[in-house]
Amino acid sequence: MDCDLLVKNGRVVSAEGIDAADVAVKDGRVAALLAPHVRDGVRAAQVLDAEGRLVMPGAIDVHAHLNDPGFTWREDFAHGTAAAAAGGVTTVVDMPLQNEPALTDAAIFARKFEAVRDEALVDYAFWGGLTGDNLDEMRALHDAGVTAFKVFLGPVSPDYRTLTLGVVREALEVASSFGGLVGFHAEDYSIIRHEEERAVWEGRTGRIDFLRSRPVEAERIAVAGVIELARATGARVHICHVSHPRVAELIRGAQAEGLPVTAETCTHYLVFDETDVLERGMLFKCAPPLRDAAAREALWDYVVDGTLACVASDHSPCAPREKDEGEGAFKAWGGISGIQSLMSVFFDRAVHRRGLSPSLVAARLSEGPARIFGLWERKGAVRPGADADLVILDPDREWRITEDSLQYLNRISAFVGLEGRGVPETVLVRGQVVWGGGAVRVSPGYGELVRRRTP
Ligand SMILES: [Zn+2]
Repeated sequence: MDCDLLVKNGRVVSAEGIDAADVAVKDGRVAALLAPHVRDGVRAAQVLDAEGRLVMPGAIDVHAHLNDPGFTWREDFAHGTAAAAAGGVTTVVDMPLQNEPALTDAAIFARKFEAVRDEALVDYAFWGGLTGDNLDEMRALHDAGVTAFKVFLGPVSPDYRTLTLGVVREALEVASSFGGLVGFHAEDYSIIRHEEERAVWEGRTGRIDFLRSRPVEAERIAVAGVIELARATGARVHICHVSHPRVAELIRGAQAEGLPVTAETCTHYLVFDETDVLERGMLFKCAPPLRDAAAREALWDYVVDGTLACVASDHSPCAPREKDEGEGAFKAWGGISGIQSLMSVFFDRAVHRRGLSPSLVAARLSEGPARIFGLWERKGAVRPGADADLVILDPDREWRITEDSLQYLNRISAFVGLEGRGVPETVLVRGQVVWGGGAVRVSPGYGELVRRRTP
């Protein structure tokens, strides 16, 4: 057998298990997984030795805001995908907002592609936006290849639009007609706005007031509404960034009924808690907010049992001045930069801190995201025929996140200072090393647009 690349001596991780195997790559795809003794008949143009390493499927970050085009003082595709490459994220599914304009029709899809195609270092896909006035654009967006449609039920930045459940109900009817997936920022608008206005009126704009303005009830009420509308319309729905086990419990119940409801959580909800907001400040501000330590721990149960089938970053960068707390906690930017640390942090906390299998990491960062967002079978696993998106990870090598190590345009993150073990050393996209030896190894524009493949 002839191949372009052989990744030898590693242990290949899938959602099902871990096997000693060599990975033969040809034309950017996995050509074969070879038991170690079979390798002798293989001629490879290039060989990477993964002795002592895990060969993980590349992570698919289904929730990232790269802000390009439009808000490129916060992040851009060049820096965001460099950070992805450094972190073992081989496909970024980019959000439609914090874009100018928001990605709400097929012409804007094409313009965004043109704007970022010469910048991307890893593969990427696009979410479509739902702003209430573009329901008749949904089918064309779906056909253009968006992975899902993003809805905000809670307050959102001025470039986007909060939807009522009335509009959502109609949108789900449209989505169900072609098998589209609709994803939700699920927090109840009225509770949050009331609490924000009440707090500001009473002059309470501190950290605790921000946390209290977004109670878990707001998240549960919104999720319950979405579940009810999924039941009524048959549309596939996805709950973004679940922050609390009581929210996950609602989703688990819907799934037990057989409703088409999937969900994700983010690394920050699994690692941090509200004391980080109270004691360390606005770098930890996000929405939904960080919850208490007991909730953080219980949320892991739903990651393990698969209620939460994806773990994403919700990479939501900003300029340092936007985190300024001088005018109170409500005014500071909400969002945490985390695409670069997604895999290393989740791997360390799952495998080293909790004794879980690296297979869980492959399931929640790769296979689950690929299946839900229509990227399976091209992406999501190290298997013959799939793109050779590989992460050669040293499971025991120690890391410490520093500002200098970040590839972000703005080198700030709640994760700075965190330590753990498990480093994505060499990262390949379609058989090409994009990150290795601590540096980017491809030119901007190497990354390709991936369109949704299945409904
Ligand atoms: Zn987001």
